[in-house]
Amino acid sequence: AMLDLNDPSLLTGSALMNGSYVPGDRVFTVTNPATGTELAQVADLGVAALRQAVDAAHAAQKPWAARTGKDRATILRRWHDLIMANPEDLALILTAEMGKPLPEARAEIAYGASYVEWFAEEAKRVYGDTIPGHMPDKRIIVLKQPVGVVGAITPWNFPNAMLARKIAPALATGCTMAARPSELTPLSALALGVLAERTGIPAGVLNIVPGLDAAGMGTELCANPKVAKITFTGSTRVGKILMRQGADTIKKLSLELGGNAPFIVFDDADLDAAVEGAMAAKFRNAGQTCACANRIYVQSGVHDAFVEKLAAKVAALAVGDGRAEGIAIGPLINDAALAKVEDHIADARSHGATIATGGTRHALDGTFFQPTVLTGMTAAMKIAREETFGPVAPMWRFETEEEAMALANDREFGLVGYFFSRDPSRVWRVAEALEVGMVGVNTGLISTELAPFGGVKQSGRRREGSHYGIEDYLEIKCMCLSA
Ligand code: ADP
Repeated sequence: AMLDLNDPSLLTGSALMNGSYVPGDRVFTVTNPATGTELAQVADLGVAALRQAVDAAHAAQKPWAARTGKDRATILRRWHDLIMANPEDLALILTAEMGKPLPEARAEIAYGASYVEWFAEEAKRVYGDTIPGHMPDKRIIVLKQPVGVVGAITPWNFPNAMLARKIAPALATGCTMAARPSELTPLSALALGVLAERTGIPAGVLNIVPGLDAAGMGTELCANPKVAKITFTGSTRVGKILMRQGADTIKKLSLELGGNAPFIVFDDADLDAAVEGAMAAKFRNAGQTCACANRIYVQSGVHDAFVEKLAAKVAALAVGDGRAEGIAIGPLINDAALAKVEDHIADARSHGATIATGGTRHALDGTFFQPTVLTGMTAAMKIAREETFGPVAPMWRFETEEEAMALANDREFGLVGYFFSRDPSRVWRVAEALEVGMVGVNTGLISTELAPFGGVKQSGRRREGSHYGIEDYLEIKCMCLSA
């Protein structure tokens, strides 16, 4: 094997279906974006296999739900502990298949595991409610019950954590799951499956089915009447497809979609903190996250100083294979990602933007791109409307708070907004006015299992994490009792 793992059995290309590992009749190749070399041959399963996985999940669901929450909590806790007993192997697999620097991969493993820990705890706290009756003999009781079989579709940019934070609440409540990971990064998902199997989880409770037929498998999950709910993290484009396709069976939907986050630096900001925040919010995962700052608005009084400080830090970021020491920016996921970054920069330049640093492919070639700062951005540019999903920090100059808020909210997206200000009344005003699901105030890092993650507008539906997150996997049943 090319990866030097402590536990080589964590690297598998076999699907997990009904408690068995399925190598598949057909396979596809997963490659390392840093080197272009092959990592594994992965089972290329399609609609028929996914349907079998859903059948298995359906058969397993009632017995799984009949267990106590405490019992499910014990199994999830065991899974968490197994993940955290193997962080280095899981991080190596993650970096190898998607390119992020190893320290970021380690952080993702811990982040994913934190959701497993949280929902293991929450499994014991799925509380209902009692409501005073509307007649002297009546009592009203609200039960919370698992929605049933959940279909999950996950992306490549956080191949461990995006799946972990869907599996954990599903299993905690007594739901079962059929998951389809991104065809670009199935290995992190399958490794999670291997560890889940070691917890003694019953066959069929968790099924992980990789395959190249993304559209067909998505359609199957949406149309299959045995699937009660779809949980998806990915693009707004695909989110809309799933919503349309789910209409016929009235699927419950949780959607974490595109972001295009605004990042606003006011004149009264702590400038060094704002620079740190921008580095974290923009360049983590080489800019390939839905919570990435995509539009950086800087008030004119601090604009030039901010750009100068940021550009100096960006120019110093080390680009290279994420497995090497000291690397801050790995390769982009594939050629399409590289082409989009180049297109966005060319478009911005043609509309008058200036390159403060970077701007071109990196000398390493492949899909490596130099971290870039652009200034002189305007509303006419593509970056103003589309997520770049790359290491490009575009700067707008603004004069007034009103102008900044209009720019920030003038989008169909509303996942997260960041701003830096030391004026308490402005902090409240801006936080309340931003049309987003999450606000980072004087920070560029907001994600934790303790807080609800999710967006408004076309950035999605529902929330993941926190005590709000578990509600997504529960139905409300109202009992009316006559004494
Ligand atoms: P990204 O821009 O992050 O790649 P996508 O929405 O394209 O976002 O991908 C997220 C996940 O959705 C991936 O697992 C991908 O394979 C899957 N996917 C892509 N197209 C479809 C589709 N038509 N139906 C269902 N899933 C899809």
